[in-house]
Amino acid sequence: MSRLDKRDYYDILGVQKDADADQIKKAYRRLAVQFHPDKNPGDKSAEEKFKEATEAYEVLKDDDKRRTYDQFGHAGLSGAGAGAYGGFDGFDLSDALRAFMRDFGGGGGGVFDELFGGHGRGRGGPMGGPDLKVRLKLTLEEITSGVEKKLRIKHLIQCAECHGSGQAKGSKKTPCLQCGGAGEVRQVTRSIFGQFVNIATCPRCHGAGEIVEKPCPGCRGEGRIEGTSTISVKIPAGVSAGNYITVAGAGHAGPRGGPAGDAIVIIEEAPHEMFERHGDDVLYALPISFTQAALGDSVIVPTLNGSVKLTIPAGTQSGKLLRLRGKGITHLRGFGSGDQLVQIIVWTPTDLSSDEKALLKKLSESRGGQPPKADRSFFEKLRATFKN
Ligand SMILES: [Zn+2]
Ligand SMILES: [Zn+2]
Repeated sequence: MSRLDKRDYYDILGVQKDADADQIKKAYRRLAVQFHPDKNPGDKSAEEKFKEATEAYEVLKDDDKRRTYDQFGHAGLSGAGAGAYGGFDGFDLSDALRAFMRDFGGGGGGVFDELFGGHGRGRGGPMGGPDLKVRLKLTLEEITSGVEKKLRIKHLIQCAECHGSGQAKGSKKTPCLQCGGAGEVRQVTRSIFGQFVNIATCPRCHGAGEIVEKPCPGCRGEGRIEGTSTISVKIPAGVSAGNYITVAGAGHAGPRGGPAGDAIVIIEEAPHEMFERHGDDVLYALPISFTQAALGDSVIVPTLNGSVKLTIPAGTQSGKLLRLRGKGITHLRGFGSGDQLVQIIVWTPTDLSSDEKALLKKLSESRGGQPPKADRSFFEKLRATFKN
């Protein structure tokens, strides 16, 4: 459109020459919503009207530009004559859309409700796919040695039919009119504290900058479908329940070719038959006979990595904790491992033969084997046991 053909800005907006800022804004808003390309898809004349109104508004809302226009007309703003204000010769639809979004797209403007029946605002999701949470149960043996696991996961994968584009074979994409192909929109929020501008993903194209004309039948235009994959996760030694490992890009595929989210593998601990984890130490209960406790013994006990010999000193009390250094869980950070604590439980026999009973009677008649009186030091020892 050449300069000479241009309509008068006041005429375009349908306001008087002395209209105030508020009247200009209201007039433009009404026209912009009426002729917005999202409301008039494919309507070239609506698009022209939208552009024209936006251009008029951009000039008339700005006191300096308005004064220049009042004095010199279109010539004052165009090309070489534009001076500091920049020309409007290159003012295209995406400029107009951006200008509109800047002033009216924000939460305070409420224009989305008018344009899209209340579903527009805040709908813009990230163009990337969401993360996928996967739970992985590990045994204490796996935790202390570290392990590599293959996991079969169900997630959204890129549609093979359209390679994620979401469009049917042979169909074209059209630039998104709301964001002018930028994929993002500026949102302006006004409050009593002032004006806040933030960049948000375009709610119409979800950041793609393009609109799919004919959706792919395989994915109904989403660019992704449900599928399964096998991922490999390397778990370092010493993890705990609740720790997680991120496998980048193994989450859900993004819509229409957007990048995939991550798989978040959350560690769980399978309860162990013999060991109980306390931090990086493990507790193991060892029943022994009272003769072993009294005379001492050497026994083989299991640990998380093989069996080891444990010496029970003579005169070991029930409840005593014996420590196998370094036989616990590998420290996640740094070197070394926790310990295995072996809690001695002196087992009272319940199925004695008559010969054994006779021997025990003989023993009880002798002076030995009498427990001490329970005094304070006895309880302190007992408490020390439970502290661990
Ligand atoms: Zn597809
Ligand atoms: Zn868009």
